[in-house]
Amino acid sequence: MIIKKDRDTIHNYFEDNSGVTGSNADFAAIAETEDDISVFLVEMSKSKTAVTVAGALTGNTASGLAFGGSVLSLERLNKIGEIQKIDNKNALIAVQAGARICDIKSKAYNEGWMYPPNPTENSSYIGGNIATNASGSRGFKFGVTRDYIKALKVAFSDGSQSYVKRGECFADKNGGITFNTSNGKKHIVLPKYNLPVIKNAAGYYNYHGADLIDVFIGSDGTLCVILEAVLKFIPRFKEVFGGIIFFENRNNAYKFVNKIKNISKKTEKENLKDSISAMSLEYFDKNTLLMIRNDYPLIPENVEAGIMFEQDIYEDNFDILMEKWIEIIENSDINLEKVWFASNITEQEKLRLFRHKIPEHINEIIRKNKIPKVGTDFAVPEGKLPEIIDFCDKVFKETNIFNITFGHIGENHLHANIVASNEQEYKQCRQLYANIAQKAVDLGGTVSAEHGIGKLRHIFLEKMIGIEGFKEMAKFKKSLDEFCILGQDNIFPKSYLF
Ligand SMILES: Cc1cc2nc3c(=O)[nH]c(=O)nc-3n(C[C@H](O)[C@H](O)[C@H](O)COP(=O)(O)OP(=O)(O)OC[C@H]3O[C@@H](n4cnc5c(N)ncnc54)[C@H](O)[C@@H]3O)c2cc1C
Repeated sequence: MIIKKDRDTIHNYFEDNSGVTGSNADFAAIAETEDDISVFLVEMSKSKTAVTVAGALTGNTASGLAFGGSVLSLERLNKIGEIQKIDNKNALIAVQAGARICDIKSKAYNEGWMYPPNPTENSSYIGGNIATNASGSRGFKFGVTRDYIKALKVAFSDGSQSYVKRGECFADKNGGITFNTSNGKKHIVLPKYNLPVIKNAAGYYNYHGADLIDVFIGSDGTLCVILEAVLKFIPRFKEVFGGIIFFENRNNAYKFVNKIKNISKKTEKENLKDSISAMSLEYFDKNTLLMIRNDYPLIPENVEAGIMFEQDIYEDNFDILMEKWIEIIENSDINLEKVWFASNITEQEKLRLFRHKIPEHINEIIRKNKIPKVGTDFAVPEGKLPEIIDFCDKVFKETNIFNITFGHIGENHLHANIVASNEQEYKQCRQLYANIAQKAVDLGGTVSAEHGIGKLRHIFLEKMIGIEGFKEMAKFKKSLDEFCILGQDNIFPKSYLF
């Protein structure tokens, strides 16, 4: 274990993508082996020193930022194993938690496979992706990180380690799970609050009959340190056809998205060969498009919404599928002049950069303003999206604070970013966010569908599970982390622990 104390050397661990300032730690511990981590955790438990695990620090919720105690970095544990082909449709690979997803993705690509989760920030580590259950722009077809995790090796704060395989250990009807560790058996009982059955990254996973592995995925550095993972790869697509459609009326954008969703579901269910099946369906509101018009002056004037779509293509039917998309676009009363198509690798890369530019641009503004990010991450049940977008419009009109909304419309999951330029506006933004969070909950949705709760969203999670839910989570955490050293203040306020 390398210990660094000099502030000038460790300051890079004190900033992530949330815009939160004031992070600090007495020292940073950089693990050189997995066993280093167990020894370190035992020492930290004995001295009751807080441990915040840092991934690549690209997270949005300050969950990787320490406020006292120590930072534990897995940046040197970045081995990527060899791909093991299971059959023509599946392969497995073992990786260490500090491996960057861009390296994992290129390894897959070069050998004819693909790792589908696509949180657009490619420099993030797989450990961070697992701890936040990240998803991103291709979640509509491919789901979330959890769907591609077959096994995890984890270390607990008592130094014990466990190898957890998917499909081996499940919660009983009371939420109890007993499992093996290197120091003997552990028994946990999952919290009992109700979480919505939609895309969700808020709160500890406690669905009926939960698989133990899913309890650790999305636990935001609070229950264990993820050391290694076995990931599932699927066959790589041959080509992608995509585009961005600009709409003058956003209701037409919703109608188009619904049409594509229905056709895509049918295509997948019936395994149809030459039929539309979107891989991503992304939404950009008017303000988002205005924000990046300087970089993209060809964005048409007077547009209210943009929809980006991508279809993955595995056979020699690119032309057939391209024609199908053009046909459905024309039949939806969309002017083809208001569509940018991406039909080759160069154009697809331009599309990816366009999508990535949006969070990047917002993050730049936030870094410049030095005020934390206020960005929603809500998802709502099918059919409820127009209602919450109208609601957001209403609350934004009450102030003049700059805001943009974009995100994963295929999964009814959007990010409304409200950008404060001073402390007073920040308070207003938090209030607007609270109102939107309440609306999402009232509609049966979640306050976080991919970034997690971290340190910035406790009050929003409280709207979903209440104070009793926080108490249950604290009790649950203590059953795995006796001295509560891991990820303090992530997911729920640390005042519930001490
Ligand atoms: C431009 C941009 C676009 C983004 N787009 C998306 C998106 O589309 N979808 C999405 O989901 N996210 C997105 N993100 C957010 C971010 O990339 C993800 O949350 C990512 O999963 C964080 O990974 P990280 O390695 O940076 O983790 P960090 O930010 O360092 O940490 C995040 C959490 O994981 C914990 N953690 C990290 N490693 C471990 C470990 N080994 N064991 C236990 N806990 C650990 C930390 O303690 C912390 O709680 C975006 C970020 C940026 C900058």
